[in-house]
Amino acid sequence: MRNNKVVAADARTVTVLGATGSIGDSTMDLLRGARGRYSVVALTANSNVDALAKLAKEFGAQFAAIADPARLGQLKDALAGTGIECGAGESAVIEAAARPADWVMAAVSGAAGLKPALAAVDRGAAVALANKECLVCAGDFFMQRAAKAGACILPADSEHNALFQALSSGNREELVRVIITASGGPFRTWAARDIEQATLAQALKHPNWSMGQKITIDSASMMNKGLEVIEASYLFALSADEIDVLVHPQSIIHGMVEFSDRSVVAQLGAPDMRIPIAHCLGWPDRIVGPSARLDLAKIGQLTFEAPDFERFPGLRLAYESLRTGRGATTVFNAANEVAVAAFIAGQIRFGAIARLVEATLNDWIRGGNLAPLSSADDAISVDHNARNRAAALLPQIALKAS
Ligand code: NAD
Ligand code: MG
Repeated sequence: MRNNKVVAADARTVTVLGATGSIGDSTMDLLRGARGRYSVVALTANSNVDALAKLAKEFGAQFAAIADPARLGQLKDALAGTGIECGAGESAVIEAAARPADWVMAAVSGAAGLKPALAAVDRGAAVALANKECLVCAGDFFMQRAAKAGACILPADSEHNALFQALSSGNREELVRVIITASGGPFRTWAARDIEQATLAQALKHPNWSMGQKITIDSASMMNKGLEVIEASYLFALSADEIDVLVHPQSIIHGMVEFSDRSVVAQLGAPDMRIPIAHCLGWPDRIVGPSARLDLAKIGQLTFEAPDFERFPGLRLAYESLRTGRGATTVFNAANEVAVAAFIAGQIRFGAIARLVEATLNDWIRGGNLAPLSSADDAISVDHNARNRAAALLPQIALKAS
C-alpha cells in the first residue's frame, strides 16, 4: 500500500538520485526525521531493487528508477499495488531527475551521475551536489548551465559546504584563498613502499568517515582530495593557486576561507555527512539536525600537517590537470574511475592507481586533444575516450612494479 503519511500542503518536493548509497542513506535519514515537511517525488538506485522499493514505499515516492535495465520486472513486482510508477535504465534515472521537484540530491557515484544531475540543473532546481565526479567531468560548463537555468547548486561535499558557508563572510575581491582539509586517510603515516602494496581491506578502513567504496579508496589515495580541489575550482570559480589542502586528521574543521584582512573563517562540525546535507536541505534556512553536537573540550586537540605530494601523487596530478584544463580534469576523473575499479578487481596494486592516471593524462596530452568542453556530449565523449585509453594502458601498468 502507498504510504499514508501526512504531508503538509506547503511541503517541499524532493528527489534523491542514488538513494540507496551512503549519502542517499544520510539524506533519507534527514527526510525521515522531518516527516510531513518534505514530499518525495522520485528515488533512484543502480541495482539494489529491494532497498529502492523499500524506500519508495516508506516515503510514498511518486516514481522509482533503477539504472540496471534488467531489473525492471523485479522492481515492478516489488512495487505492485502501491501506485508508485517505476522505470529502468539510464533514461529512467534521467527522468527521475527531470520530474518536477524543488530540491534534488545528486548522490550517484561517478561520472554516471552527470546526465541525471544536468537534467535537474536544466529545469532550474535546487541541486544538492554530492557527486563530485560529475562536476570534475563536466568542467566549467556545468556551473554555466546552472546559472543559465537559474538552478542553485548547493555543495553537499563537507569541505565545499564549509567553504559555501564561510565564503559569505566577504566578497570575491576580498578573498585570498580557500583551504580544504583532508583527514589524510588510512595511509597518512605510511611509508611510500607500504602504500604501494596496500590491500583493498586496508584501503577501505577510513579513520573518520563511513562512505561508499569508491570514495573510501579515493580517500586512501588522496585522489578524493584532488577531485575536491578541482570541484572547489569549478564550484566557486577559483584558480588552482587559490585552493590549498591542509591535512587535519580529526576531520573537525572542514574548510576555511582566508580574506584580505587576514581573517580566516572556518566551518566546524563532527565528521557526519548529515551536517552538510542538512545545510543543503534547509538552505537558505537552517533545520534542526540529528547529529551529535561538537564537544571540542572532549576532542582536546586539533592538529594539522602539510599534504605530501610525493607519497600521494594523485593530489599533484589533480592540480596539474586543473592547470592544464581543456578536458584534462575529465581525463583525470575517468582514468581514476578505471584505476579504482581495476584495484578493486585485483588487477593492479594500490600504488598503480596514480600511475595509471598519470599515464592516461600524458597519453591524452601527447595526443593533442586539448579543447574546452562546452556540452555534456563533449564531456561524455572525452570521458569515454579516456576510459578506453586507461583500459588500454592498464596491462602495462599492472606489470610494472614501482
Ligand atoms: P555509494 O556507492 O554508497 O552510493 C552510490 C549511489 O549511486 C547508490 O545509490 C547507487 O545505487 C547509485 N549508483 C551507482 N552507480 C550508478 C549508476 N551507474 N547509475 C545510477 N545510479 C548509480 O556512494 P556514496 O559514498 O554515497 O557517494 C555518492 C557520491 O557522493 C560520490 O560522488 C561521492 O564522491 C560523493 N560524496 C560522498 C561522501 C560520503 O560521505 N559518502 C562525501 C562527500 C561526497
Ligand atoms: Mg569531501
